[in-house]
Amino acid sequence: MVSSSRIAIARKRRGLTLAALSERADVSLQSLSNYETGRTDPTGDTLSKLAAALEFPESFFRRDSIDLLPLDAVSFRARSKLAAGPRDAALASSTLALELNEWIDSRYRLPASQVPTLARLDPEVAADVVRARWDLGDAPISNMVHLVESRGVRVFSLPPEFSDVDAFSFWRSGTPFIFLSTLKSPERGRFDVAHELGHLVLHGEERELYGPSAEKEANRFASAFLMPRSSVESIIPDSPLVSQVIAAKKIWKVAAMALAYRLHDLGIVSDWHYRKICVELSKKGYRSSEPQGIPGREKSQLLEKVFSMAHGKGISLRNVASELDVTSQELSSWIFGLVVTVRTGAERTTASPARSKPRLTVVR
Ligand SMILES: [Zn+2]
Repeated sequence: MVSSSRIAIARKRRGLTLAALSERADVSLQSLSNYETGRTDPTGDTLSKLAAALEFPESFFRRDSIDLLPLDAVSFRARSKLAAGPRDAALASSTLALELNEWIDSRYRLPASQVPTLARLDPEVAADVVRARWDLGDAPISNMVHLVESRGVRVFSLPPEFSDVDAFSFWRSGTPFIFLSTLKSPERGRFDVAHELGHLVLHGEERELYGPSAEKEANRFASAFLMPRSSVESIIPDSPLVSQVIAAKKIWKVAAMALAYRLHDLGIVSDWHYRKICVELSKKGYRSSEPQGIPGREKSQLLEKVFSMAHGKGISLRNVASELDVTSQELSSWIFGLVVTVRTGAERTTASPARSKPRLTVVR
């Protein structure tokens, strides 16, 4: 039995239209369409051609059927501007990464979600509530990825080849997920995590996930969460110099532009002063990049631990990939930029899941 849904997901993962796959695999368009709707099954030979063209092992297509993450469930930024190809590729990649998450869940006891859903609150207030519930006070957050992982959020990567797709997030059976594009600056990465946390908190189940107002709310949440009013007001003088803004961005590990925006939002700088700061920052290159930025993007502590514990038991990344019936490259794309010490390693001879699940703790 071949799973029709897996043919469609593999094709979308590669960013291919039916016509493009038909040409690449040398299979007629009509036949392809029949396979994807489940009307007919490909023969063994045809399945081999499809598997080769899609760069998935044949065994992948014989696994249980799988539902593509619904577009409505996902907080895509600028979704109207995003082409269907990269968008579906990101959705397909994330759908498959959920199988890695299940693999991890079946072996380790992970932190339960402590992400509240506060749909009725103003983003600024919601950010304060989350900080209070997580005992963060108004201190700067040293590592956003570690923090959300310690509160039960699962963080994965978006495929690096589709760099126009921004981060997105969703709830799935009570577990919050964040998928990150790991190609942007470290400051932008931290803001993305805080922005997606905002979606999870504010737009959890009931509220509309997308559109300009949801984006604005998630940005306000991120800004308030990373740079709490009380701490900013106590540190930054009124009408600060640009040099003071540049020095202070290191305290909250944010982009200089993001701090300037926050200062304006809090009334610490006037409209006129804000425009002046923006012009000066632009001249210094802060609009297109982040000079004097923090070194290196934040990594996942959870995935790092999972793969190093697996390695300790002789289970390599390649072994995990083969248990999930994907290539090592495919699996690597789900954790790209989030894990440093992945060893692809040699084949393992015996594969037995742990008898009792070890608890995996993540500290912020
Ligand atoms: Zn968003």
